[in-house]
Amino acid sequence: MFESLSDRLSGVFDRLTKQGALSEDDVKTALREVRVALLEADVSLPVARDFVKRVQEKATGQAVTKSVTPGQQVVKIVHDELVATLTGDEDPGKLKIDNPPAPILMVGLQGGGKTTTTAKLAKRLKDREGKRVLMASLDVYRPAAMHQLEVLGNQIGVDTLPIVEGQKPVDIAKRAKQQATMGGYDVYMLDTAGRLHIDEVLMDEVEQVRNAVTPRETLLVVDGLTGQVAVEVAQEFDDKVGISGVVLTRMDGDGRGGAALSMRAVTGKPIRFVGVGEKTDALETFEPDRIAGRILG
Ligand code: GDP
Repeated sequence: MFESLSDRLSGVFDRLTKQGALSEDDVKTALREVRVALLEADVSLPVARDFVKRVQEKATGQAVTKSVTPGQQVVKIVHDELVATLTGDEDPGKLKIDNPPAPILMVGLQGGGKTTTTAKLAKRLKDREGKRVLMASLDVYRPAAMHQLEVLGNQIGVDTLPIVEGQKPVDIAKRAKQQATMGGYDVYMLDTAGRLHIDEVLMDEVEQVRNAVTPRETLLVVDGLTGQVAVEVAQEFDDKVGISGVVLTRMDGDGRGGAALSMRAVTGKPIRFVGVGEKTDALETFEPDRIAGRILG
């Protein structure tokens, strides 16, 4: 297992005898540990470097308060800076879904958890906000994925658009819009096809769908355990189709969640939710404080 940052830092400061204020040398030594801890938590190198620089500016010359050790003090500065970086202006749990029917476009690579997350989010909107939700699968390449969404819909009591074979994704999207409008739904969610790698066909398809429905939210679903890859995927999707937020899945795994920090720092997009299991209720609103604690170990 990883050594926690607090443990590392108390080791560092035990060897130092300075008192009163954190000297530049103390801080430098501590920051080396912070950087290693961030990298171990899967934060990308440029993001970790930048982050450490900001912490250094805040920590140097700070008086050591009597009640805490220098190690604890640095941990607190790092924690606060993590939370500040991860926190945006928006309320992560509040999606822009007024003006019914509001389209939500779900995008991402295959296997990232897109279909499961679509169902989790639909359930949440229904149960917590009393929304009438319609889900539609646009994954014409994998009939199994379409059926998977239908099965999940039945499980959670959310309607799915009837499957019509041979339709193009953009036509399914238009049909979903029509049915959502006529059926008086508040929200319709479009679960787009994923590929193993980002390719042009995938992006063109998502673009066509986006142009057809003008989504209120375009949520990228990515596996939070894939670290730097997740950030690259987010950048590409944002460049090509524009994303409004991110859902990090598999945050119930062993990973330390550093992808969240890199994601926010690199793309500037809010992380809205985190997936914490396979069940349809295993979706939590993103909480910067909790992820910060996890990154620190
Ligand atoms: P898609 O190809 O992106 O639509 O991915 P799926 O929704 O089919 O998910 C792929 C696998 O990941 C399934 O076995 C899901 O149950 C699982 N999965 C999705 N989200 C999570 C999560 O947050 N935690 C865990 N442990 N498994 C997840």
